[in-house]
Amino acid sequence: MSFENMELWFFTGSQHLYGPEALKQVAINSNELVKGLNDSKRIPLRIVFKQVLTTPEEVRKLCLEASASSSCVGVILWNHTFSPAKMWILGLRSLTKPVLHLHTQYNRDLPWDTIDMDFMNLNQAAHGDREAGHMHTRLRMNRKVVVGHWSEKQTQDQIGIWSRAAAAWADWQGARFARIGDNMRYVAVTEGDKVAAETKFGFEVNGYGIGDVVRFCQQVSDAEVDRTCQSLQEQYATVPELKKGGKRHESLRDAVRLELGIRGFLSDGNFKGFTTTFEDLHGFKQLPGLACQRLMAEGYGFGAEGDWKTCALLRACKFMAQGLKGGTSFMEDYTYHMDPKRPLVLGSHMLEICPSIASGKPKMEIHPLGIGGKDDPVRLVFDAGPGEAINASLVDLGNRFRLLVNEVTCIKPPKPLPKLPVARAVWETKPDFKTALSAWIYAGGAHHTVFSYPITTQHIQDFADMAGIEMVRIDDRTDLVDFQQTLRTNEIYYHLAPGLGRI
Ligand code: MN
Repeated sequence: MSFENMELWFFTGSQHLYGPEALKQVAINSNELVKGLNDSKRIPLRIVFKQVLTTPEEVRKLCLEASASSSCVGVILWNHTFSPAKMWILGLRSLTKPVLHLHTQYNRDLPWDTIDMDFMNLNQAAHGDREAGHMHTRLRMNRKVVVGHWSEKQTQDQIGIWSRAAAAWADWQGARFARIGDNMRYVAVTEGDKVAAETKFGFEVNGYGIGDVVRFCQQVSDAEVDRTCQSLQEQYATVPELKKGGKRHESLRDAVRLELGIRGFLSDGNFKGFTTTFEDLHGFKQLPGLACQRLMAEGYGFGAEGDWKTCALLRACKFMAQGLKGGTSFMEDYTYHMDPKRPLVLGSHMLEICPSIASGKPKMEIHPLGIGGKDDPVRLVFDAGPGEAINASLVDLGNRFRLLVNEVTCIKPPKPLPKLPVARAVWETKPDFKTALSAWIYAGGAHHTVFSYPITTQHIQDFADMAGIEMVRIDDRTDLVDFQQTLRTNEIYYHLAPGLGRI
């Protein structure tokens, strides 16, 4: 995972009305503005100033170039002067990259003492960007509008969040996710329309037999298993029985062989994520708990029980979160603490929680597992640390997709959980326990989620807007009556939107 080869292209709108000297100044100022944004370090992608656009031909040519470019993951538009918007129609219609409309101006302050008509001619974003915005709305363009002087931290942060979403969106295009085995039988929410997903989101999900992975496990050398076991023992607090010479060390070797085999399969097929199911483990000695945990920590998307939507969303969130503090994991709302004074959710899974969210050094342990009918699996056990976080869910409603976010506050578990042999997180939901859970259930949110500290509701909102899908949020402002009405209204809007030319 890297933002290394990703760029944002910066287009400045203008026209020939003001003479060549003015256009020269527009280009100089645009370059300075872009340099200021790049120097801020608040935007993780490099912004490249492309051109001052003054004719329909130039706009169209550059939009086609941006659409075809493999390095351009988004376009930032700004009008230094007025730029008549009819000349943008053809270009914008052919632009396939996410768009951010930056409504700023070169100067922060009005030069009260010296302002004259030359200054007025040159600095017209206040109305030039409204002409542009009118056309964007009339074309029903999905875009992000950011308002503020380009030197402001808040402006730069908004661009930064959007650019992370744009990068993850680019990462999804052509991404491959492997569904190893099929779905957990009879489960509804982990199913979905993979054809619709590829059409809408640009990633492919295909099924693979467990034997395809077992073949890679068999090719793993003993020396490689030895080396990895050694490095795991150093990395995690390992129980003595799993250590070299311990009576269950062979189980660790089996777990490591699984991990190396799955990694080989994923890298051979150029996959960005995978799903497993405990109902199809033929040829696996144990359920791949440790393997899933460690592969997630490397940036792979993962979904248990065949959940390819959560797998894809996890990959997107991990991609967005690069370089930010705090981890991101596959998660499941497992069980509740229903004390009315302080109700809590205990999030976990039977094994597969990403150690990137661990508050301390994870412990490597082995315990029996009631399902799957295999040998006891090795797993990493830890508590997730305190902090603001989100749970996000991508659901297939049959005719369309919905993204759903609940903002939560993760806390240190109020008491130790000495008998619980799996990784866990304990959180309070916003705005409160009953409203959040009611809203989640009314919205049809899954029991599997992506849990993340660094990714915020705004990242998910920007990402959903790029995809052109519904996004509903459950946060400290959520009122249940309004929320239900939003769902009803959205149902109509997203049904009609394709006819409005929006999607
Ligand atoms: Mn599950």
